[in-house]
Amino acid sequence: MKTLQHYIAGRFVSPIKGGGLFDVVNPATEEVVAQIEMGTAEDANLAVEAAAKAFPAYAATSLEERIALMEKLRAAYARRYAEMAEAITAEMGAPKDFSFNSQAECGTGHIDQTLAAARELDWEAKSGKRGNVVREPVGVCGLITPWNWPMNQVAAKVVPALLSGCTVILKPSEMSPLSAQIWAECVHEAGYPAGVFNMVHGTGPAVGSALSVHPDVDMMSFTGSTRAGIAVAKAAADTVKRVAQELGGKSPNIVFADNDLEKVIKRSVLHCFGNTGQSCNSPTRMLVEASVYDKAVEIAARVANSVKVGDPSQPGNHLGPLASKIQFERVQGHIQKGIAEGARVAAGGLGRPDGLTKGYYVRPTVFADVNNQMHVAREEIFGPVLVMIPFKDYEDAIAIANDTPYGLAAYVQTEDWDKARRIARRLRAGSVYLNGVGQEYPSPFGGFKQSGNGREWGKYGLLDFTEFKVINGFHEA
Ligand code: NAD
Repeated sequence: MKTLQHYIAGRFVSPIKGGGLFDVVNPATEEVVAQIEMGTAEDANLAVEAAAKAFPAYAATSLEERIALMEKLRAAYARRYAEMAEAITAEMGAPKDFSFNSQAECGTGHIDQTLAAARELDWEAKSGKRGNVVREPVGVCGLITPWNWPMNQVAAKVVPALLSGCTVILKPSEMSPLSAQIWAECVHEAGYPAGVFNMVHGTGPAVGSALSVHPDVDMMSFTGSTRAGIAVAKAAADTVKRVAQELGGKSPNIVFADNDLEKVIKRSVLHCFGNTGQSCNSPTRMLVEASVYDKAVEIAARVANSVKVGDPSQPGNHLGPLASKIQFERVQGHIQKGIAEGARVAAGGLGRPDGLTKGYYVRPTVFADVNNQMHVAREEIFGPVLVMIPFKDYEDAIAIANDTPYGLAAYVQTEDWDKARRIARRLRAGSVYLNGVGQEYPSPFGGFKQSGNGREWGKYGLLDFTEFKVINGFHEA
């Protein structure tokens, strides 16, 4: 069995003290597929030391040199693409085709888009008559990533950080370290100078918080739960670090009565269940115009009942299991609470789907007769669980949509495109999606309110990892 190590100062190494072995479990088979040598604060500190030592020389490299290194990383990633997709399936249960076409694609996608953005960005520009404004790397960055879109989140942070001239310490989720390990091997193969990229495996409280409090770390970029994001920000506050957070969501999906309901409800339900509901921007809170609510619930239940759940190692467009036992128990707990508070189970419910006795599989679930104050309407469930809430009119839809502590995404479905554009301006969310149109890489990804701050992807990711420096008098003589 493979044992995963840290990558510090250009070498794969074991922990200094040894934080113990952690089992990586395949959520479909419940079998241990690898082990991680868990790090401690000592390993995090060593990695910070390496990143701080590498920073001055790396920050002084030209953009062309950094682009050339990133192109080598892209070539290494492309060579190991199939292996990457398999690793993601093994560690978090994304079905084979989805892993290959969507999960692993995020690596090449972010590299290509951020390379294009780096070539176009104004890294330096005249300011006033005599000054220049220069964009410089923030410095040493701690990057903490989750398990639900493992390569998306690693690439969305590491790529812009390295292209900007930052040096980094990645702490991937302990639940999804296999993909991170392949990524680190690709970075190694690309030939980055020692210390520019480092990776320390371990838990959030052990390694993540050691990075967050470290005085030589200039920025923390975090993706995961709001709970852990707050912990990182608090730990970072004493040393006045920049903190970027990409946190949870409970995104509304406003469905007006003027739609082709069969088409729109089916698309919306399948979107909510995608990645087994483990996406921060999933449309999990469906708000339906009251006149068509009953019909919409009937369609949603039918669609949910038709969704296939099964073995992620097989091809097809079925759903896989949840990523871990903890996640399975959390989702069961949320479903239980929904039932207890009086939401009606229109499809799915507690337990595994029929015929599946092993693996962290759950039943795609639709809750009807939900009001926006219920637990299941307010909490991020992170599983294939949809709640359906009726609304009276346009203003009522906006009020319910915005009545959430989150603000990552919002969705609108109406055949009246002018109405869709109008309502989009009233929704408090980082991304609004009209009539099923998805987000493209050049656009910024991030949230309002407790969904975080800062923006990732393309140019916006690069901007997050740079500081402004004004050089006054630059054009004086
Ligand atoms: P988590 O927030 O605990 O883990 C995400 C990352 O943060 C991991 O690398 C983890 O080790 C690290 N971490 C945890 N506690 C930390 C701390 N105190 N300091 C520094 N780093 C810390 O997420 P989870 O426990 O895996 O999932 C819990 C819930 O979070 C899910 O049910 C879901 O609602 C949400 N979640 C959201 C996203 C997202 O993309 N927004 C991703 C994963 C999970």
